[in-house]
Amino acid sequence: MPYPTRTARAVRLLSLLICAATLTTACPLPAHAFANHLQSSSAGSSLTVNVDAEHAQSSMYISRLALYRSIEALTGVPWYRLAAIDQYERTLTVAHPKDRKHAERTIGIFVTGPIWSGLMNPDSEDQNPRSIELFSGLGQDGSGDGIADRNNDKDLLFSIASYLGKYGNNEDEFGIAVWEYYHNSRAVQRVQQFAKLYRTYDKLDLVSQAFPLPLGSIYSYRSTWGSRRSWGGYRIHEGTDLFAGYGVPVRSTCYGVVEMKGWNPFGGWRIGIRDLNNRYHYYAHLSGFDKTVHNGDVVTPGQTVGWVGSSGYGKPGTQGKFPPHLHYGIYRDNGWADWSFDPYPLLRQWEQSERKALKTGKTKGTSS
Ligand SMILES: [Zn+2]
Repeated sequence: MPYPTRTARAVRLLSLLICAATLTTACPLPAHAFANHLQSSSAGSSLTVNVDAEHAQSSMYISRLALYRSIEALTGVPWYRLAAIDQYERTLTVAHPKDRKHAERTIGIFVTGPIWSGLMNPDSEDQNPRSIELFSGLGQDGSGDGIADRNNDKDLLFSIASYLGKYGNNEDEFGIAVWEYYHNSRAVQRVQQFAKLYRTYDKLDLVSQAFPLPLGSIYSYRSTWGSRRSWGGYRIHEGTDLFAGYGVPVRSTCYGVVEMKGWNPFGGWRIGIRDLNNRYHYYAHLSGFDKTVHNGDVVTPGQTVGWVGSSGYGKPGTQGKFPPHLHYGIYRDNGWADWSFDPYPLLRQWEQSERKALKTGKTKGTSS
C-alpha cells in the first residue's frame, strides 16, 4: 500500500462524505425507477420520457465520476482507467446478461464469488477481508464498513483499483494488469481504447451520434441487410449501402477510436472505429481518408474520416466496379468475436434526430 492505513481511512471517510453530498444534490430518481418509468410510459408523452432519461443519465454520470475520483484519490489509479474497465464490464453484461446477473448499482463491474473470495477459499461468498486476503482473493473493503461485499460499488471499484495499482501506473503496466485479469487481448485493446476516450474528452458523457453523411448532401439508402451479394463468393450483405456521389464526406457516427484503416479486397479503402458501447463501425469503398485521421486516433461524431467512393473488389486501388456508395456496417463485440447487426434502424434514428436538431437550431437562430 502506498499510503499509511490511518490516512487511508480518513481519505476514505472524506470521499464517502463527498460522494454522499454529490448523490443527495443530484437527481433523486434511481436508475431502476427510471427504467420502469421508461417502459410504462413509452406509449405516452415521449417528451417527458426524454427529459427524464436525460436527467437520469446525467445524474448517473455524476455519481459514477464521483466514485471514480474518490477511488483515484485513495489508490492513485487514474479515474479514466477505472471508468474504462467499468464501461468494458458493462458491455460484457449487455453481451452475456445471464452469466453476469447482478443487482442494480452504479458500477457495472462483475466479479464471481470464487475470484472475489479466492479460488481455494472454501467459502465462495466470503466477505471477510482478512480471510479473503489469506486466499489471495480480489475482494477488499473500500467502503470502510469492515465487509468486502462484491455487490458494493466502493468495495468493487477499490478492489479493482488496488489490483491495478500493484502493476504500476504507466500505460504498459496498465496493459499487463488488464491482460492478467482477462487473459484476452481483445479486452486489453477495448479497455485501453475506452481509457483513451475518457482521458481525451475528460468526461463520461460520450454517447451522442451523427448520421454518416452530411444531411445537406444528396444520398439515398434502404434496408439491405442480409441480402446476397455477387463478388467474392457467397456472403450475406452485412450492412447498409448509402448511395451518394464521389467525394461526399463520410463522417464518424460516434465518439470512438480508429481501430483499423487501409485496403481490403472486398471493402476497398475502409476504416473501422470502435465506440464506448463496444460497437465497431465499419465504413467501406471510400475514395480516400482524411489526412488527419490515423490508427489509434480518437474521433468525434460528425468528424470527417474520408470520402464516398467506389473502391474495392480487387487489388489495392481498384475502383469503379460499382456505383459510388458508402457501405456502413456495425458489429458488436461479445468478448471473443464481433457479430454484425442491421445498422438500418440506427441510421434512420440518427438521421431523424440530427434533422430535428438542425431545425431547432434554425428556429432558435431566426427567432432571436
Ligand atoms: Zn454494402
